[in-house]
Amino acid sequence: MRAFGYTAATSEAAAIALAAQPGTTYLAGGTDLLNLMRDGAEQHGHLVDINHLGLAGVTADNGGLRIGALARMSQVAADPRVRRGCPVLSQALLASASPQVRNMASIGGNLLQRTRCGYFRDPGSACNKRDPGSGCPAIEGQNRIHAIVGGSGHCIATHPSDLAVALVALDAVVQLAGPGGPRAVPIADFHLLPGDTPDVENVLRPGELIVRVDVPSSPLAEHSRYLKLRDRATFEFAVVSVATALRVRRRRVEDVRLAFGGIGTKPWRSRAAEDALRGRPLTADSIADAGRALVRDAVPRHDNAFKVELVQRALTGVLSEHGGIR
Ligand code: SF4
Repeated sequence: MRAFGYTAATSEAAAIALAAQPGTTYLAGGTDLLNLMRDGAEQHGHLVDINHLGLAGVTADNGGLRIGALARMSQVAADPRVRRGCPVLSQALLASASPQVRNMASIGGNLLQRTRCGYFRDPGSACNKRDPGSGCPAIEGQNRIHAIVGGSGHCIATHPSDLAVALVALDAVVQLAGPGGPRAVPIADFHLLPGDTPDVENVLRPGELIVRVDVPSSPLAEHSRYLKLRDRATFEFAVVSVATALRVRRRRVEDVRLAFGGIGTKPWRSRAAEDALRGRPLTADSIADAGRALVRDAVPRHDNAFKVELVQRALTGVLSEHGGIR
């Protein structure tokens, strides 16, 4: 690992001023950042430690939740208000990483973790995300874990966060602070498609800091689920995952949100699949229609074509837990 400077920030304003300097980034739990720096996938001249800024609380707000960016994954997963009010969030967190990592990794850091694409993690390989313009060997190479939706001719890497998928299903809002003041960004708009600039992964501006994630009150949230399919039972990223939140009235789906992991270049919400369910009974036919709508624009590659069917089966599986299928 290359040498780097370190400052333990004592105020939010001081942290932002420091992190706005070139070559500087924030240090939260460090569970992904330090691996990236050790492996040579990222280089930073200075780290600003934000662990002591009082950003780790979880508070109730008008029936919703305010989750501090420095709250630990295990802390949020175990919070009774999270378990009761938005089980998809607790389930997604508990399906992530290992107990040791969950005790250290922060909510904000989880949203900013980098892709697990092996070419990206290997500084000896070309990679448009790590080294813009160098190429994307995954498109014709090993792409079993890569995206079938949201890709471009420059990158097809999946976003690895389970938490972000759950937050998309909950319509959460990311609260930021930065040199230009505070602003709020819906989680669905926080991560960016790769397009021509796969190195730009989110809307953060220089020096901007995630301070909190707000989960609004919603009758859907109480009826939410997370299903993650992976190659081994723990410490593994999703091959495909599904987050659902829905309300059924008089046997019809009154409202629904569906988000997916492992298939998209960003946490993937499918409004087409939601539209296929809304107003209909939760039956094998309506769920199959939702699955077909979800993958209508999929671009499978030679190693990951199996995801097209697998994600539809996963959707069927998790919706059956909601009381379908008749
Ligand atoms: Fe790099 Fe993206 Fe291609 Fe992976 S898929 S090699 S991250 S450009």
